[in-house]
Amino acid sequence: MDISQIIDPLNKAQRQAVCSEAQNTLVLAGAGSGKTRVLVHRIAWLVQVENVSPYSIMAVTFTNKAAGEMRFRIENLLKTPTRNMWVGTFHGLAHRLLRAHWKDAKLVENFQIIDSDDQLRLVKRIMKEMGIDDKKHPPREVQWFINECKDNGLRVAQLNVREFHNREFMLDVYLQYEELCQRTGMVDFAELLLRAHELWLHQAHILKHYQQRFSHILVDEFQDTNTIQYAWLKVLSGNNLPTTHINTFVVGDDDQSIYGWRGAKIEHIREFTHDFKAGTSETVRLEQNYRSTGNILEAANSVIANNSERLGKVLWTDDSEGELLQIYKAFNEIDEAAYVCGQIEKWIDNGGKRSDVAILYRSNAQSQPHEYELVKRGVPYRVYGGLRFYDRAEIKDALAYMRLIANRQDDAALERIINTPTRGIGQRTVDIIRQAAKEKQQNLWQTAQELIADKTLSARAAASVQKFIDLIEELQVNADEDLSLAEQVSHIVEISLLKEFHGKENSERAQAKVENLDELVNAAKRFDDEGDPLLDAMLEAKDEASSSSGEELQAMNPMAEFLAHAALEAGEGQADEWQDCVQLMTLHSAKGLEFELVFLSGLEQGLFPHKNAIQDYVGGRLEEERRLCYVGITRARQQLHLTHAESRTIYGRSELSYASQFLSEIPASLVSQVRAGQNNFSRNTPSGSSFAAAEDDDVYIGQSVSHKKFGEGIVVDVEGSGARARVQVSFDNYGTRWLMLKVANLVT
Ligand code: ATP
Ligand code: MG
Repeated sequence: MDISQIIDPLNKAQRQAVCSEAQNTLVLAGAGSGKTRVLVHRIAWLVQVENVSPYSIMAVTFTNKAAGEMRFRIENLLKTPTRNMWVGTFHGLAHRLLRAHWKDAKLVENFQIIDSDDQLRLVKRIMKEMGIDDKKHPPREVQWFINECKDNGLRVAQLNVREFHNREFMLDVYLQYEELCQRTGMVDFAELLLRAHELWLHQAHILKHYQQRFSHILVDEFQDTNTIQYAWLKVLSGNNLPTTHINTFVVGDDDQSIYGWRGAKIEHIREFTHDFKAGTSETVRLEQNYRSTGNILEAANSVIANNSERLGKVLWTDDSEGELLQIYKAFNEIDEAAYVCGQIEKWIDNGGKRSDVAILYRSNAQSQPHEYELVKRGVPYRVYGGLRFYDRAEIKDALAYMRLIANRQDDAALERIINTPTRGIGQRTVDIIRQAAKEKQQNLWQTAQELIADKTLSARAAASVQKFIDLIEELQVNADEDLSLAEQVSHIVEISLLKEFHGKENSERAQAKVENLDELVNAAKRFDDEGDPLLDAMLEAKDEASSSSGEELQAMNPMAEFLAHAALEAGEGQADEWQDCVQLMTLHSAKGLEFELVFLSGLEQGLFPHKNAIQDYVGGRLEEERRLCYVGITRARQQLHLTHAESRTIYGRSELSYASQFLSEIPASLVSQVRAGQNNFSRNTPSGSSFAAAEDDDVYIGQSVSHKKFGEGIVVDVEGSGARARVQVSFDNYGTRWLMLKVANLVT
């Protein structure tokens, strides 16, 4: 037994947590303070010193990647495999339980797990059968509602009909959906958790079995547990009873709670010692950060200090200050990506590894300009925890329209979009067309037209298919009209109703899809302006080949060229799993990870913080955005670059954008500002914030000011102070607006 290996690499507070004798332990600590390390060492301690069998340990983490990493680290410490230890995510563990006890869980043996897209399809089908107008009631909203109920542990029977006036149909859809899933043996993600919870509640013998089996339950990222996960833990650990022998050990950070929008509740941290009341309890706080340099840590602390709802923690490091943070103000998103890529190349030239570098952003659509630049410069990269831009479903849909417009023979494209967005063309109709095409040995497009003409299709089906054909022809006319590529793409996503289809509903997921479609228009715009570096290289190669063979190179039309570019980027850009490559991911999927060199990109008002959060002025969502910013900053070990663009292309148009308020919350003494076009870094003036904005007392009511975008105006009100100061300005041409003083750059 080698205790020193387990204990030596820990500080005093970490040791206290690892060796805690309390039955319920909460480790509450900031980012990079060793929470995950403590959890891993605790498991090793239990097995090696307290002789707990790995068989009776359950460890829950947030992602599969984290679970794999945890298992690896435990095995490294213990030097033995830990196959019979239950290490996984809530969903993974629930799934395992339901497979083992499918009968008691009232499932069929080979039940199928369905993802969110499958779920939506089922909800749509049910709504259609029930004759509910999906224009008035977007199926995605109903899907969201069902999942929200499940996350809160609520079946239809537990909902109060009276609270649903005018929306009773939602209960009916939920009920029908439950019945359909039950009948066909399908289980969605939220159902996994709910069902596993019900297994405890309704099958006492199973619960008892696991309560006897497990003596220790450990949870990482505890701040992001939702209601049903919390309840599941509470019941399993026996804490709904006066006594239990099970020990619970949870680690978390209220400042990193970023899944409120998906039902996670920070309150669970506060309630833990109260709710897990069997036996003794202990709270351990870790205060030393081992991850980041002093400057990075101070920046993180300064930003999060602006939140009001906090449990309060101290975080320090004895690491050196390190380098200053770099803020880069780019002209636009292309310049931003070029800066990031340039810095990465420098890092690599100096012997750095690509896998130590991460580019983080608020929403998936922002990966596109970065991917473009990385491909252009031949830097291998991987988009982590999300699909590459051109592989995303909504992008593939839009590309399929373009493909069919470019080439009516493209059967795969036709099949993909003939009923996307839904236009009443059923699977049966598609089957008939497909069968006939096979017999006639011709393409689907041609066949569909013939089946309409010879009245093989029912009148209703024929009308729907004709509408689809007309749509493509209409888009073709646009393509012929010599419009720019960006305009054509913009027409396609609008006229096909793809964007409306995705944008009808008000969920983050739907919004991300709309943003992606907008980003496709931007990509087309860039392509109009610059062309495709890869494709150019390819054409050059072809050019050489053809000149030597005497053939003439056909100039491709811009749409075909763009499609080739998209296909290449989808197929080629992404590095292989094993390759040393730069990591691209959203801030949400970066949780728990660390990198030597981090880029936080797109720090602009409306992008990050997201516009929905800014509008929510009372602040709950803005505080969640700020926690996300804190998560982002604290991923960096050595170097952190924060970038924002002065103008960003939205809907194919350039719009001015303003620096994120979070930037102004970082003390100026910690940053060095780099301005686009400037090749040496200049220190910013060290007063107050990192932005040269008017000081609070510079502005008074009645004062004339001028704003870059809104022009001349008069200050009519001032509110708040410091980083939060807002002014209301009555502009001559733009009416009255509230502006954040620190970022408005008013000229007085
Ligand atoms: P997050 O909140 O981001 O999940 P965390 O609190 O889980 O962070 P860890 O990932 O466990 O923090 O640790 C951060 C880094 O600090 C890791 O690289 C870890 O190996 C290192 N570390 C933690 N404790 C110590 C220690 N006592 N001595 C040296 N390094 C440590
Ligand atoms: Mg961690």
